[in-house]
Amino acid sequence: MTNPTTAAGNNPAGESSNDASEEMFVAPRQHLLDLDDLSVGEINDLLDSAEGMLEITGRDIRKTPALRGKTIITLFFENSTRTRVSFEQAGKILGADVINVTASTSSVSKGESLLNTVKTLQAMKIDALVVRHPHSGAPYFISNHTDASVVNAGDGMHAHPTQSLLDLFTVRNNIGDMAGKKIAIVGDVLYSRVARSDILAFQKMGAEVTISCPNTLIPDEWTLGSTLGDETGFGGLKLARNVEEAVDSADVVMALRIQQERQDAGHLPSLREYSDRWGINAKRMALANDGALLMHPGPMNEGVEISSEVAHGAQSVVEEQVRNAVAVRMAVLYTLCAPGKSSRIGGSESNSGNEA
Ligand code: ASP
Repeated sequence: MTNPTTAAGNNPAGESSNDASEEMFVAPRQHLLDLDDLSVGEINDLLDSAEGMLEITGRDIRKTPALRGKTIITLFFENSTRTRVSFEQAGKILGADVINVTASTSSVSKGESLLNTVKTLQAMKIDALVVRHPHSGAPYFISNHTDASVVNAGDGMHAHPTQSLLDLFTVRNNIGDMAGKKIAIVGDVLYSRVARSDILAFQKMGAEVTISCPNTLIPDEWTLGSTLGDETGFGGLKLARNVEEAVDSADVVMALRIQQERQDAGHLPSLREYSDRWGINAKRMALANDGALLMHPGPMNEGVEISSEVAHGAQSVVEEQVRNAVAVRMAVLYTLCAPGKSSRIGGSESNSGNEA
């Protein structure tokens, strides 16, 4: 099966990889659950593939037969607009049959367990399950009970790998190589799965990441004003004392939503005070580098973590993030589901001609 795009597509042997030995012995990968075990080569391959997919999304007739005959189910136990719709659109452009299941309209609302829901769907012969769940780790559990490829579309406070891939893709398309670039992430680091995945993703690409938030919204053992060591898994992550320090000379400023649905304790004085002290506005963006990008994973609470003026201003790439989401999710679905294991990320049966 050839890649439906004109881009390089899958290159499991990863010419662009930092470490050839890492690629040589990598086990076949069936799922995308997190970014932490993806090599830089695998990430670059997905972004390269997304480049070609983006070209397809811009065509008048946006349809390819690449995944014809494949069935993809989106299984969402949490609300979503952009993630669910973009996965659906991605699957449909690739020619797959996409079925959407939401917890509120499924037998989950009748008390069916997660395991039985998955077994039921599995019995219908599906190729991919795109899962969003309020509990961290749920997609891992599901991946142990299905033959389908599982894509984590956000699990609790844990991870949101496709959001991070599309964020990397958006930054790469705007500023190129991320090595040495300064990324400021401002907001609810404690409860945001995007924060965790994006910190890992940008650090993998060699960027210098600084976060800023109230000290009630970082893990207890972290201290504002410090730089984390390798033992934390986020070695080199800077914890700014205040938002001005974080955005100073930044190449990218990312505002995160306050995850009110995940906060069980009063970690914030008030949304108004949060906005005054950590909200991203024109005055704070002026501290960043000229031409710095302003990002937000959405949904935005305008007037809280981001002002309307900058959210829709010249530096904002928020809508571009949404557009890129479809291309990146096409690349992920194609990589996991295209006929033959050769197309799977890191697949050892690669027929790309580059495998060791
Ligand atoms: N849409 C992203 C997520 O699902 C960000 C957010 O909800 O704040 O995690």
